[in-house]
Amino acid sequence: MRNLHETLRSEHHLKHFGRLQYGLFLKSIGLSLDGALAFWRAEFTKKMDPDKFDKQYAYHVRHSYGKEGKRANYTPYSCMKIIMSNTPTQGDHHGCPFRHWDRSHMTTMLQSHGLSSKDGQSVLEFVESSHYQLACQKYFEITHKLQSAPFSLEHPSQYFAESRRVRGGLDSMPKTEPGGMESGQGDASGVECEDESVAMDVTAEISPLARFDLDAAIIFSDILVVPQAMGMTVEMVKGKGPHFPERLDSPEDMKKLSLSVDVDKELGYVFSAISLTRRRLEGKVPLIGFCGAPWTLMSYMIEGGGSNTISRAKAWLYRHKDASHQLLQAITDVCVEYLEGQVKAGAQALQVFESHAGILGTKQFEEFSLLYLTQIANKLRERLQQSGLPNVPLIVFAKGAHYALPDLGSSGYDVVGIDWTHDPSEARRAVGGGVCLQGNLDPCALYGSKEDIVGRVQEMVRGFGRQSWIANLGHGIYPDMDPEHLKVFVDSVHSLSQQSV
Ligand code: SF4
Repeated sequence: MRNLHETLRSEHHLKHFGRLQYGLFLKSIGLSLDGALAFWRAEFTKKMDPDKFDKQYAYHVRHSYGKEGKRANYTPYSCMKIIMSNTPTQGDHHGCPFRHWDRSHMTTMLQSHGLSSKDGQSVLEFVESSHYQLACQKYFEITHKLQSAPFSLEHPSQYFAESRRVRGGLDSMPKTEPGGMESGQGDASGVECEDESVAMDVTAEISPLARFDLDAAIIFSDILVVPQAMGMTVEMVKGKGPHFPERLDSPEDMKKLSLSVDVDKELGYVFSAISLTRRRLEGKVPLIGFCGAPWTLMSYMIEGGGSNTISRAKAWLYRHKDASHQLLQAITDVCVEYLEGQVKAGAQALQVFESHAGILGTKQFEEFSLLYLTQIANKLRERLQQSGLPNVPLIVFAKGAHYALPDLGSSGYDVVGIDWTHDPSEARRAVGGGVCLQGNLDPCALYGSKEDIVGRVQEMVRGFGRQSWIANLGHGIYPDMDPEHLKVFVDSVHSLSQQSV
């Protein structure tokens, strides 16, 4: 898919079979019809009139989603189908590189993807014996640093899913995170669509940025990449969410963690995605990097996934106080380095998500959350200064921490994000005038009518007043929300806040 993707980027066009192969693949990994139309349109209209795209190409996109013609639910091509049919001719870019490329082209590709000549040779041996899927699987093992791939490759979207699983990605569908931005680690998608470029494109093209008049982009990633970098396996269980097959049950289990993480090595793919995305955004909007806060990450690592009560992790705070601090400190150290790396790669602001703040009481928040949030802000600023990197704005979002707003206001962050349960004017009083607020429309308000959304935005604009404020949703959005309603939200924020200036 990477070959198709790169051709599309450089030629702003793909012939029929290439469009079909890549389009059905993107559909299979979760790209909606609206997203697909926006994606193909954005690329094709770099070289052709938008009217021509709408007349000649949009139909085919809708067709592959079963909205035109036979209205069939077309499924993506398997490796076998790609390998066996439609040999590409001059000017075509579909097909399987292992099957359809000549040896020198393949050798150059393997070298340019960083394979040593010995590793490249081990892939080519499979190609030469006509075992194309095994060649691709070998490539997967080498590029994912595995002794042996735990699957038998049948499908490009399987490659995508397995890669996400191995690298700690959480789903093929973007997951929503606080602030209405999409999250979920961008990761490899078949040999020809590697992690960085997918993350970049999801952020810069497929993401809401291509469809709405937004003022910033957040990198397509996930907070759980940090536990993964510390040696934990994170899987996505369909319909359930993130799952850690070996959660931390007792402090003894911390021995399994890598407490001194080589951040560049383990999370370098996120840094590459940030650099690529910055380039692709061409300065149109700033790019935000992020990480999960230590308490939130610790609770995922102990719970083994999502939980309503977070009681296992809270039990640690009462029973294993020292071990809890040790774990929180280790996560904090990784987060500081990870955030610094994101700035080095090009992130222009950083957000720290303390999604599980609301489950803690005042005392525990102070001891197990605020302490480490403050440490992140302070250490990070120090490191940025020492490395001569920009002192980028820092945003903290501690969901549900009503009681902690005054403390958050003085915790070293420039911006305090608030969820929809806060009253904006009271939040302003609590944090004081020195910090910017961010928030806070209830994302579920987008289920209401368009008129109702405009009314609610009006209330929000009035509530935040004229002091520094970043308009946002008070949390992530849900997949069944009408994108048109999101557009109403974005557009009315712009028009109404303009009027209030
Ligand atoms: S996933 Fe690998 S084997 Fe399958 S079609 Fe793509 S390149 Fe070929």
